[in-house]
Amino acid sequence: MGYSSVPLDHTHDPHRRSWVASANGHADFPIQNLPFGLFSPAGESPRAGVAIGDEILDLAAARQAGWLTADAAPGIATAGQRALNDFMASGASQRRAIRLRVSEVLSEGHPASRDAAGVLHRAADCIMHLPAAIGDYTDFYAGIHHAMNAGALFRPDNPLLPNYKHIPIGYHGRSSSISVSGTPVRRPSGQQKAPDEAMPSFGPSRRLDFELELGVWIGPGNTLGQPIALANAADHIAGFCLLNDWSARDIQGWEYQPLGPFLGKSFATSISPWMVTPEALAPFRVAQPPRPDGDPALLPYLVDQDDQQFGAFDVELEVLLQTAQSRREGRAPQRIALSSTRHLYWTVAQLVTHHSSNGCNLRPGDLLGTGTISAPTPDGLGSLLEISHGGRVPLDLGAGESRRFLEDGDEVCIRARACRTGYVTIGFGEVRGTVLPASGIVHNP
Ligand code: CA
Repeated sequence: MGYSSVPLDHTHDPHRRSWVASANGHADFPIQNLPFGLFSPAGESPRAGVAIGDEILDLAAARQAGWLTADAAPGIATAGQRALNDFMASGASQRRAIRLRVSEVLSEGHPASRDAAGVLHRAADCIMHLPAAIGDYTDFYAGIHHAMNAGALFRPDNPLLPNYKHIPIGYHGRSSSISVSGTPVRRPSGQQKAPDEAMPSFGPSRRLDFELELGVWIGPGNTLGQPIALANAADHIAGFCLLNDWSARDIQGWEYQPLGPFLGKSFATSISPWMVTPEALAPFRVAQPPRPDGDPALLPYLVDQDDQQFGAFDVELEVLLQTAQSRREGRAPQRIALSSTRHLYWTVAQLVTHHSSNGCNLRPGDLLGTGTISAPTPDGLGSLLEISHGGRVPLDLGAGESRRFLEDGDEVCIRARACRTGYVTIGFGEVRGTVLPASGIVHNP
């Protein structure tokens, strides 16, 4: 199955409204979205839910109430666990069956509206969790403008390394330190050495940064030794989230050669709690931009007609920064970047296929990061490294404040939405995190 198997249906109908009044015109979660997540009502255990306006539909309760028919029931059973891994493993047909049925029962005029007690919860009263037990996390480098900007800091004349346009660059990240939105981020300490320092020192990072990324949830996955062909890669993507790949540039800069990112990355990654499905994003698929003249031809395993035609997305991404001072003074967060998933050089299917091309197995609930998604314009840079030109040019925030890198008390929030004429706009919710001061450094006794 390829992308042509993600048809538009009545769940995308722009005229469909919900009896959940807050869903109609909701910036993120109108009835056309229906993302999946793991939530706890106050004082209760985690369970699977679907976001609808300002409410969350409890899938197990909906099944007990008889709202969900047999065709959707097996998927709900697997979604009732403490994590959505089994649900992700069950694949597209179960996901679609639930989506169709949930869309129907939440539609205006459906009799379910008369009996919603215990099935819907106010989202503001609930706690959100990581949707899956994340076995492995891999971070790619598919945002070409970020790769150019970051490369230009070190190699102004030759910013892209020779492999970039042939192979999706990535590294194995750390899953244990992935947190759900709202979890504070402790400033890491580590070994660092600026180019003009004679010897390394150990201490709190002075160059803490964010990275604007899209997260990709793996669905069924593959058996060890059996690569996923590009034509089938879309079947192994369960959904998408927002991802902030917090980065300590000073720790990273000293440690990364020759083996790549390690402690400068592994201290924290934040993600948004709602998994937006490929079905919800179907109206917002676009062609992958044509490769610029002079780019090398791809090896055949990375080429698929369907993927080139429908494998990219038109999702607008924004980064907001609120400093401790602006919070105290009651000023709103400032938007410091506006970008789009259109700026990815590789499609998410190419990332999946390349990752498995050596036989490496991807498992349900694994998470991929696309890499920082910067726009080609100065107002769309997805990291402070790029915004401040490596720390040389401070970002003026007004009111006497500026930033080269993040300071304690800063809160970074990423949001995203998909818009297209003739369709209802859907959003991803948000991923936010506030920087806490470094904890005391433990010395040897
Ligand atoms: Ca990254």
